[in-house]
Amino acid sequence: MAIVSSGSQKSSSYNLNGKTRLLDPKRLEAETKKRKDDSLRPQCWNEFIGQSELKEVLSISVKASLSRQEALDHVLLYGPPGLGKTTMALVLAKELGVECRITSAPALERPRDIIGLLLNLKPHQLLFIDEIHRLTKVAQELLYPALEDFRLDLTVGKGTTARTREIALPRFTLVGATTSPASISSPLRDRFGITHRLNFYHLEDLEKIIQRAADLLGLSLSAAGSLEIARRCRGTPRIANRLLRRVRDFATVKENIQTVDKSVVDESLKLHRVDECGLDQTDRRFLSFIIEAHDCGPVGLETLAAALGEESSTLETVVEPFLLQIGFLKRTPRGRIVTSAAIEHLNFDESMRVSS
Ligand code: ADP
Repeated sequence: MAIVSSGSQKSSSYNLNGKTRLLDPKRLEAETKKRKDDSLRPQCWNEFIGQSELKEVLSISVKASLSRQEALDHVLLYGPPGLGKTTMALVLAKELGVECRITSAPALERPRDIIGLLLNLKPHQLLFIDEIHRLTKVAQELLYPALEDFRLDLTVGKGTTARTREIALPRFTLVGATTSPASISSPLRDRFGITHRLNFYHLEDLEKIIQRAADLLGLSLSAAGSLEIARRCRGTPRIANRLLRRVRDFATVKENIQTVDKSVVDESLKLHRVDECGLDQTDRRFLSFIIEAHDCGPVGLETLAAALGEESSTLETVVEPFLLQIGFLKRTPRGRIVTSAAIEHLNFDESMRVSS
């Protein structure tokens, strides 16, 4: 399978007061900037751990399209960053025995970018568009007939002499990925035959992912060590791999560490201020602000974004999903509320809480 990467890589990671965040699920490691060079990325079904429901759905469709010798139906994958959407697209291409072309919506800003991409597609090729909710209106309109009828409608000429030219495209598969499915226009959403959410990973799956990565990195990691990283990686494989690399650095520098066990993980992640629940300073600042300045909430997203100096979309797609998942935050029509579990975890005085 060949991987062709076009345009920019994933959107830049987000910075907190100029510092790059260790727990940012969007951030790509320097060594994984070129996605095809990511040594830890699973290459086939068996290596893709967890997300069993998604794997089951897709493996049936792959088998069916292979037996009918057709292109796989278009697939939309959504969910928080770092959960394996790009990886799944690459695995799909491998299973289908086709080339995978990778791009992202911000790289398709000009109409000629998407036209060029579509005109260069080969039969049954897999096209992966990351952050598909950010496609321009023009790009989306060019995609509608391409996805439905494998046809490109181009307008040639201007004014009264303008004509539409139809160009037939080979049958191909679009895999779209998004962290924000609600932002996708419904005509585009409707053109995907398979739509699936990727969920945060269970501890057992994360432990397997971490053990596999440790083996690939040549690191001896105890079961308790891998469980500890699993607990702190916010259910996200990209963060798990990053924490593992930081633990490996620590173990390399400290002498006489044969096997990395829980105490080594504890010590090294303490240095990075990642706590037992996988919260870092960004989370603590976010929660503390709601508790201290707004009596635990409710407080609106825009107010939070302005006060913390972050973009509301960053808070919504990067910070909040995990806090919601572990029950530290609630979203209500009147705004965000911090729960008593978070207050307890942060050691705040429970009496600060007002009824919500
Ligand atoms: P997304 O596209 O959802 O942001 P990626 O597919 O880029 O996430 O995954 C981030 C990294 O996490 C990958 O490089 C890979 O090493 C690891 N990873 C993701 N999903 C899995 C999985 N199911 N099993 C093992 N590793 C995974």
